[in-house]
Amino acid sequence: MSEALLPISVVGRFAPSPTGPLHFGSLVAAVASYLEACAGQWLLRVEDVDRPRSVSGMAGLQQEILHAYGFVWDREVVLQSEREHLYQKALKTLIEAGYAYPCTCTRSQLAGHTDARVGIDGARIYPGTCSHWQPGDAVPENAAWRFRVGGLDVPEWSFTDRIQGVVSQQLARDVGDFVLHRADGCTTYQLAVVVDDLAQGVTQVVRGADLLDSTPRQLALISALGGQVPSYAHLPVAVNNAGEKLSKQTMAQALPLGMESERVVALWSALDFLGQEPPASLYKLSQAKLWIWAKTHWSISKVAKARRCFLPSKAQ
Ligand code: GLU
Ligand code: ZN
Repeated sequence: MSEALLPISVVGRFAPSPTGPLHFGSLVAAVASYLEACAGQWLLRVEDVDRPRSVSGMAGLQQEILHAYGFVWDREVVLQSEREHLYQKALKTLIEAGYAYPCTCTRSQLAGHTDARVGIDGARIYPGTCSHWQPGDAVPENAAWRFRVGGLDVPEWSFTDRIQGVVSQQLARDVGDFVLHRADGCTTYQLAVVVDDLAQGVTQVVRGADLLDSTPRQLALISALGGQVPSYAHLPVAVNNAGEKLSKQTMAQALPLGMESERVVALWSALDFLGQEPPASLYKLSQAKLWIWAKTHWSISKVAKARRCFLPSKAQ
């Protein structure tokens, strides 16, 4: 059998949202997902499904940064903003199977349910006001679509994360019927990420532990859509001295683009943060040599089993 006919064993991906330039926290996720997919393919996906939050020109800048840091992606970059048809198709499948229903509750109506329990995200659990809807009933205008978490009859979703260990969640108790498609026409992250990972044949998800609590929702969606579950590895999230996740809001510094020596320091720090114990002598090497070391020595089992870790002060 020629090499081209061999089945692709590993498909990893990095899926930044184009809301700002990449920072140290993004580099950590990029490096880990890249090295873990070394034997197979590594895909780059622009998660601009939340159009109001996406900043124009940012996806291009992020790609420029990744390129400068020596990342090479397989296949063409996909943009979620161009894949609405796929999300609509999946939503239709879920609606027809009875897994999704339209919700016309307004924000103030939802806020009025002060007795509703608070879920894992800190938001109140949806009280199920519109859940009586059945396929075939009239579809109200300007409705959001919610996922019926009780529809699958799986009270508890569990999986073994390759870094964080066993994670279990009761969706009805901890999350409630979550939104798949918003009334303003935007597909939500939860649906888009599942549709894309399935469509792109992603076999392993390596990303920040801020998304660990989203994974059971994604497992339920994969199950409802009849897809293959990838493996999951959730990395500790880099937090600053104040304990905040790095983001545009916390003024995280953009990754330096210009000088190779600065990029080498940033990559070295990412490897260090990921527990790979890069020797100090690598600091003086070229970026290409640093990558060779990283590919040879990478071991996901060295990554700390923690949801958050302080980042080196240089990178703040
Ligand atoms: N777009 C998400 C982010 O930037 C990552 C989504 C994922 O990896 O599933 O945080
Ligand atoms: Zn409702």
